Amino acid sequence: MPELPEVETVRRSLTPHLTGRTITEVQIFLPKIVRYLTVDEFKQKLLGQRFLKLDRRGKYLLARLTGGWTLVVHLKMTGRLIYIRPGLVINRDEGAWRHVHATFSLDNGGVLVFQDLRQFGYLTLTQTEDCLGLKGLKDLGPEPLSQEFTLNWLEKKVQGRKAKIKQLLLDQTIVAGIGNIYADEILYAAKLHPERIGASLTADELARLYQSIRSVLQQGIDCRGTSISDYVDGEGQPGEFQNHLQVYRRTSQDCRCCASVIQRLKVGGRSSHYCPQCQPNVCDQHHGGTRLPRSSTD
Ligand SMILES: [Zn+2]
Repeated sequence: MPELPEVETVRRSLTPHLTGRTITEVQIFLPKIVRYLTVDEFKQKLLGQRFLKLDRRGKYLLARLTGGWTLVVHLKMTGRLIYIRPGLVINRDEGAWRHVHATFSLDNGGVLVFQDLRQFGYLTLTQTEDCLGLKGLKDLGPEPLSQEFTLNWLEKKVQGRKAKIKQLLLDQTIVAGIGNIYADEILYAAKLHPERIGASLTADELARLYQSIRSVLQQGIDCRGTSISDYVDGEGQPGEFQNHLQVYRRTSQDCRCCASVIQRLKVGGRSSHYCPQCQPNVCDQHHGGTRLPRSSTD
């Protein structure tokens, strides 16, 4: 669930609390959340290291530490990384602290907590210089809000592709950080049906898609992420982009732009929400540029 805007918000909200802090104790309550090294190795290497800065790549949070180490965190479906201020006691039997699978005690008495209801999230530790070679990170496409992500890159990756545009947006090798929520919102903003074939997109449509990727993700960050089910930021606070969603999980509700009703269909096994009138399943050229009014019962 946490996508680029959520992970970026976690990064920003944790940065003032973690920067300069030293790890004094590591507890792991669920061994499978530690990947690629043993729990003992993980703990031993982290102990005494200091947080230098927090980076993000796609949906990965990268905590740079002394000793040349990077703590890599992927929140997957329901992971949360929350800073607990000094003095607050964490009781893992208590409602709010259930599903805490790791704690990192800090030298100021604060604690960084990793919580994950569905247990798909994970932590690992790598030498910073090897970090971008790690499985998952290695093949990531450009950061959508960076200068490396250009219209030309998007055109090259989408033109000639027989896959549906919704699936191409979720492909982390094309552009990093987009998941189901923002893919649906981006396609709505770009007025593209989720089942449009990559190769069928016109130059104008690709330009619209490119702009929408950047503007919708930026809006998500500005709203500090989308809190629909589990997501909260590094201080435990919800985001507010859920109040600005146009189509995601709005099935059967009215489109905010036209009179149609938002529909849902499965694309590549993922639920996709769209407006049948604002996002017709034809390209602009066949559409003649003007859209005829249609009743919602068409
Ligand atoms: Zn509409």
